Amino acid sequence: MTATDYVRHEHHEFIDASHQALENGTLQSILGRLGDTLGARNREAWEAFGDSDQVRARARSIKDATLAELDRHLETLEQSVLARGGHVHWAADGEEACQAVLGILQSHQAHRVVKSKSMTSEEIHLNKALEEAGVEVVETDFGEYIVQVAGHRPSHIVGPALHMSSQDVADVLNEVSDEPLTNDREELAAFARRKLRRRFADAEVGITGVNFAVAETGSIVLISNEGNARLTTSLPRIHVAIMGIEKVIPNLADLPYFLKVLARAATGQKLSIYTSIVQGARRPEELDGPEEFHLIILDNGRSQILQSPLRESLFCIRCGACLNACPIYRNVGGHAYGGVYAGPIGAVLTPLYDGLSDHHHLPHASSLCGACQAACPVKIQIPEMLIKLREQLHTDQKMTGRVESFAYRGWAFTLRHPRLYRTMTWLASRTLGRWKRRSGWFRRLPGKLSGWTQSRDFPAPAPQRFRDWWREERS
Ligand code: SF4
Repeated sequence: MTATDYVRHEHHEFIDASHQALENGTLQSILGRLGDTLGARNREAWEAFGDSDQVRARARSIKDATLAELDRHLETLEQSVLARGGHVHWAADGEEACQAVLGILQSHQAHRVVKSKSMTSEEIHLNKALEEAGVEVVETDFGEYIVQVAGHRPSHIVGPALHMSSQDVADVLNEVSDEPLTNDREELAAFARRKLRRRFADAEVGITGVNFAVAETGSIVLISNEGNARLTTSLPRIHVAIMGIEKVIPNLADLPYFLKVLARAATGQKLSIYTSIVQGARRPEELDGPEEFHLIILDNGRSQILQSPLRESLFCIRCGACLNACPIYRNVGGHAYGGVYAGPIGAVLTPLYDGLSDHHHLPHASSLCGACQAACPVKIQIPEMLIKLREQLHTDQKMTGRVESFAYRGWAFTLRHPRLYRTMTWLASRTLGRWKRRSGWFRRLPGKLSGWTQSRDFPAPAPQRFRDWWREERS
């Protein structure tokens, strides 16, 4: 793997990619600031929001209750969209969703598409499918536009180009600019704005994701900090929105709970700058908006997850807060995870969507410190899910090596036999404990155990066992 491969391509070795990320000085300095910027804003937002616990608990319970009757809410959503003159397409997987989009484009002989940021479209590799069919696709979120021009994958749910410095961005945009650009952020943003305005005017189809879909009204809710989603949904003749089945919420009255927590968790804002509620195509009395509206409802493995112990992963509202809080993400960045979703939630979702055996390192890419759960606006128990995935690796997938498996069996046997346990601990304290009495640490362990001491020391057993100390104290 070359230095840039893991930035461009999915499904690589987490360990290799992590090493490369750790050696990337620019990335390290960007990630080093993450805890003080987005991470700190998240913590401050929760502190300043008096009712945050109740509102987060309410948002969580809405998700829980909605998933319990997901089929009913999705049917209501379909009926509401149809009643407003929209079209609904059900897609079992990414292939079907891409085919549905291509079918819409072909029926209108459309070849120019603008897109606003959508993780679901990344998940199904929509851009690749469209480009292979000869369609010109332009990402219109500034960060997405940068990574599209650079040929990278997004590295963060809300900041796709977070892995790049201003100079990196200037270098990339200079490839598509007629005039030289400096690394001044405002200059770069103004360039992208000028460039993208023309694309909005030319595009025949606008594609968006969906933050929330309200079943009762058939409304699609889009949340962004740039005006691009509004232009994408209103300028082109056709609007196509793609959502995972878990994005539905029953009523408009449920929406404020999510609006209150999403922006706070993502960026520390009370509300994102643009919250757009789109209800189908333009009606006769309206001045602007698309002539047609299509909603693509994607399963792609979600209905399987719904029945599994990892159901809670479907609560995710894609705010990115767990990434900013995670000590692993803050060291290796998003590309190392190898899937579309990065960070703690990516370590759960990527094995679920793309296969656990191909991503067996990801459930272990966590210290289980719980920072992700504390930051999560819907309090998803990510550490618990990572432990469940680890358990599946060792039971269903039989991915434990022989030596490790033997060691665990031996340990389990010892714990079930108190006499043996006492003898072993006595021996350990008399030998290793006394030998390392001064420093109390092993700098290097032999053989298979050496992995542990590659980056940290291993504590030696105490020279005196707790059991012996206790007996002495009591006597
Ligand atoms: S798991 Fe929670 S914190 Fe992480 S992206 Fe999803 S909603 Fe946000």
